[in-house]
Amino acid sequence: MYDIIIIGSGPAGLTAAVYALRADKSVLVLEKETFGGQITLSPHVENCPGFAHISGSELGEKLLEQAMGLGAEIDMGEVTGIRRQGSTCIVETAEGSEYASRAVIIATGSRHRPLGVAREEELIGKGISYCAVCDGAFFAGMEVAVIGGGNSALQEAVMLSDLCKKVTVVQNLGFLTGEKRLADKLAAKDNVTIILSTVVDALEGGDKLEALSLKNTETGVKTRLAVDGAFVCIGQIPDCGAFAEHVPLNEYGYIEAAEDCLTPDEAIFVAGDCRSKRVRQITTATADGAVAAIAACRYLDK
Ligand SMILES: Cc1cc2nc3c(=O)[nH]c(=O)nc-3n(C[C@H](O)[C@H](O)[C@H](O)COP(=O)(O)OP(=O)(O)OC[C@H]3O[C@@H](n4cnc5c(N)ncnc54)[C@H](O)[C@@H]3O)c2cc1C
Repeated sequence: MYDIIIIGSGPAGLTAAVYALRADKSVLVLEKETFGGQITLSPHVENCPGFAHISGSELGEKLLEQAMGLGAEIDMGEVTGIRRQGSTCIVETAEGSEYASRAVIIATGSRHRPLGVAREEELIGKGISYCAVCDGAFFAGMEVAVIGGGNSALQEAVMLSDLCKKVTVVQNLGFLTGEKRLADKLAAKDNVTIILSTVVDALEGGDKLEALSLKNTETGVKTRLAVDGAFVCIGQIPDCGAFAEHVPLNEYGYIEAAEDCLTPDEAIFVAGDCRSKRVRQITTATADGAVAAIAACRYLDK
């Protein structure tokens, strides 16, 4: 029996592990895919306090080393559900294993919805990005596209328009779905163009992105847009369905919880990108990890 099982080994889960272990709790971290979480996809991270520049995979390794150095047990496994037996939480995995603990921290993160065109994954960090706050500075003075027309796409376009020479917003629908206030702000910018009813058909370039092949959804006409970078902002996919029986999910599938990281189940806590929140970054995930672990320790010490 563990004191705490942490589901997910991203910045939130591994920070929670560090805090819980330093409070003398036994900790198991379960990870279904990549130790270190989604940040391991990023070749360049320049907004993580303490590191002027670090690759995401190195940051993930450092987080893992720190938690393991303090005694965290780590296992591969995709958690498919939590079952309660009195005050014990039984954590079940797709591989058929069961683990028991007195508390659980869900830190399963979220994924950016991919465009779904060929070469997308290969060009991440080489022109393709999913986060202007993270990577916008790498494209200062350059020409970029923002794919998407919702609020986050428009916010990213506004931010990029202050940094980049030219920003082209490419939206699949015939209208923008983001707030009018943001659309008006973009319309007033000289360096922003909005292209509607258009999808990205292909990514062009050698070892880095050089252009987008665009296709008009009404006429079928194809055009080429030369860009140094493209920011894909077509939504995020949280990974919380397995826990819906114990914790409330909001309309987008995130776990509904406040900054205290508590859930209606006193033994279950939530941390990081899988929680309903406005800003999803390393710093906000690690902050949640600390808050959730301290709350879990308080619950266990009651
Ligand atoms: C390409 C890219 C670049 C980025 N760049 C930056 C940046 O420069 N600066 C910045 O601050 N942020 C950046 N971010 C955002 C940052 O990575 C996230 O905000 C942060 O990783 C969130 O941490 P997390 O621990 O909440 O979730 P995640 O990092 O998503 O980790 C969750 C982990 O849980 C695992 N998991 C999910 N479901 C299960 C399950 N059922 N069972 C077991 N394990 C499960 C996942 O496999 C994953 O490893 C970037 C993101 C991407 C994708």
